[in-house]
Amino acid sequence: MDAPSLPLLDSSEYHRVLVVVAHPDDAEYGTSCAVAAWTAAGVEVVYLLLTRGEAGIRTVEPAETAVLREREQIEGSASVGVTDVRFLDFPDGALEPTLEVRREIARVIRDVRPDVVVTGSWETEAPWGLNHADHRVCGTSVVDAVRDADNPWMFPELREAGLEAWAARTLLVGGHSRPTHGVDVTGEPLERGIASLAAHRVYLEALPEHPAARPFVTEMTAAQGEPLGVDNGVLFRVHQM
Ligand SMILES: [Zn+2]
Repeated sequence: MDAPSLPLLDSSEYHRVLVVVAHPDDAEYGTSCAVAAWTAAGVEVVYLLLTRGEAGIRTVEPAETAVLREREQIEGSASVGVTDVRFLDFPDGALEPTLEVRREIARVIRDVRPDVVVTGSWETEAPWGLNHADHRVCGTSVVDAVRDADNPWMFPELREAGLEAWAARTLLVGGHSRPTHGVDVTGEPLERGIASLAAHRVYLEALPEHPAARPFVTEMTAAQGEPLGVDNGVLFRVHQM
């Protein structure tokens, strides 16, 4: 194995982490393995989903899919030590970069008061292919909302609701083409991360081309572990806010 080309992320000062994604299952392609490592170390992690992924199964009515995917997300999150899973009801597939989206993310940031916010890449062309419209909107909205949450003059209704400004110091972006750091997820975090994706059972069964959770997450984290010099890793682009 070559000498590591990327450093491991120092998470020793993390107390609370907020993961914000567009859909159920978005956090389960790597990020959840890192989450498992953090929760095992005593870090409190909260998930915020902007939609319920109701437009995700071609053959099932959205109202039914929403219930199913919410349940699978809660089950998958539990396997990596996350029991606080929050859903906003923005429309799956039609997420727009509005002030309302920013305000609702900022509301949760001020409520949870995380040291670190995690989201996915908003690049149009992600390392794994062309990105989804909702992922692009989610990523840029999270960047803006982290700043909004720290600006006492933004969204005065939040202060009126008792939610004071809060500065999340670090933003981690998963699935980015130019990662800067990574998390070692070898062993137990990988196992828990595999279980978290496998929990999206009915959803994944509806995608006949989708590989099984175990080989998929194992191979993905093996590739991301290489620049870190570990067997299995998850890479992030780190921004200090
Ligand atoms: Zn998604």
